[in-house]
Amino acid sequence: MAKDTTIVAIKRGRVNKGKFRDKVVKLPRFLRVCPVCSINFFTDRASQVYCSRRCRNTAAMRRYRARKSQEEVKSNEVVGVS
Ligand SMILES: [Zn+2]
Repeated sequence: MAKDTTIVAIKRGRVNKGKFRDKVVKLPRFLRVCPVCSINFFTDRASQVYCSRRCRNTAAMRRYRARKSQEEVKSNEVVGVS
């Protein structure tokens, strides 16, 4: 299962005129594994499941196709065509 985790990010904070200093900030993140492309990614949103909109669409399309093919099998059984 995905586990809540905290990662440490280094942000470049502007000190003054053109000077930068590395700033260490802690960001609460949720570690997820995308069910479509199986990559690990971090998200701010606990509800996010897929790494990208593209993967979300892919998953929706797969569900749609799976449901459609099941319906076709069912209707074939009813009609008696195998
Ligand atoms: Zn993905």
